[in-house]
Amino acid sequence: MLSALIFTALAANIVHAKSDNFSAQQLSQVESIKKEALESDLAWSLVESLTTEVGPRMPGTPSDKAAVAWAVAKFKTMGFDKVWTEPATFPKWIRYSESAAIVSPSPQKLHITALGNSISTPKAGIQAEVIEFETLAELENAPENAAKGKIVFINYRMNRDRDGNGYGPAVQARRSGAVVSAQKGAVGYVMRSVSTAHHRFAHTGGSHYKDGVTKIVTSAISNADADQLHRLIALGKPVSININVQAKSMGEGTSYNVIGEFTGSELPNEHVLIGGHLDSWDLGTGALDDGAGVALTMAAAKLARSKGQTKRSIRVVLFAAEEFGLWGAKAYVKANEKRLNNIVAAAESDFGAGRIWAFESNVHANSLPVVRDIASMMKSLNVEYIGKNAAGGGPDLIPFRPFKIPAFGLEQDGTDYFDYHHTADDTLDKIDPANLRQNVATYAVFAYMAANAKTRIIGKNLLTK
Ligand SMILES: [Zn+2]
Repeated sequence: MLSALIFTALAANIVHAKSDNFSAQQLSQVESIKKEALESDLAWSLVESLTTEVGPRMPGTPSDKAAVAWAVAKFKTMGFDKVWTEPATFPKWIRYSESAAIVSPSPQKLHITALGNSISTPKAGIQAEVIEFETLAELENAPENAAKGKIVFINYRMNRDRDGNGYGPAVQARRSGAVVSAQKGAVGYVMRSVSTAHHRFAHTGGSHYKDGVTKIVTSAISNADADQLHRLIALGKPVSININVQAKSMGEGTSYNVIGEFTGSELPNEHVLIGGHLDSWDLGTGALDDGAGVALTMAAAKLARSKGQTKRSIRVVLFAAEEFGLWGAKAYVKANEKRLNNIVAAAESDFGAGRIWAFESNVHANSLPVVRDIASMMKSLNVEYIGKNAAGGGPDLIPFRPFKIPAFGLEQDGTDYFDYHHTADDTLDKIDPANLRQNVATYAVFAYMAANAKTRIIGKNLLTK
């Protein structure tokens, strides 16, 4: 025990010798915060409570309202100095039911989900022959009326990767597949889920319609069902399926960003911004997406504050209605536009609960020495520093990008994230408590150090090159 303490003190001094940004005492506090975080089950108890006592949190539903009340109450119990909400509006949509089946030539059930925003079919569903395309681009390049009277099936399979790079190419077919299908004369749209899974759950997610283009039902089937449908079509006989979706657009809905802040001692207006999104899809309980991000950033802020007030404030923002199109984040930027320059560092956790393997920044070059100091204190957590200085910061930070605030990526291992993402299988048991603690420790180091650095971190918007 004693030797561990001496080692910690030595490690802190080594870093301090190279740093003008942090005192030896601050660096030893970072070591102590890390240690406490790696033994803390605070984040676990938060995500357990959210996913059990509230459950799924579709924007605009009574459960979403309950989640907002849950977050306000938790922030207060955890001792955050300021707790408030800010409204966000969005187009509200709810799902009632969905089912599908191959009707001929080999009748059997398909595991399907409606995509967010889908219209309903008639009560008996729609039935038509299926026409398969490998990619959205192939459909786009097909002749006019290529899919006339048919149900389009896009059979693109996303690839598995630690950083989730397969998601971008796959998600286009989810967002725009129904629009392009309708333009080619289709009466319905079904896609292979945006998924790396072997299970038989279908993955939902946001989709959109375009003014002037006929709205057709938009849906996704599991990987196993997509394989089956593909095999049948490849046999050469016409394949007909039935899709039945009952869902409804409900006009404008309202929810709330929930914000908790630990006030800084010297520069209270300047703040670190961390968080996740409070809403989720309705199929699972939104444990990975994004109960984990909510819980681990709340817990990290609490741990970063555990050594006393930080110099700058630490703000946790739980964004509303992310899944329907970043509506909470857009509202936050609009409401706080004049104060965004007060953000000294921002990072959103919205990629599950896998351990953090990399740390990267997107800041003004003058701030890179502070960034490197922060990175050096993450090394013992097995987090590597990526020096490209081009971090994105998380989905809800996309609306912040035009303002070039200092954004950071605390990159999680997402190798299996898209096995569960947006499915009924996104439940608490998929979170590894040890990985969750490592996330909390990394975020706590980040929040504490960015809040306490001698000189503030600045974004690429400030100063000229
Ligand atoms: Zn998410």
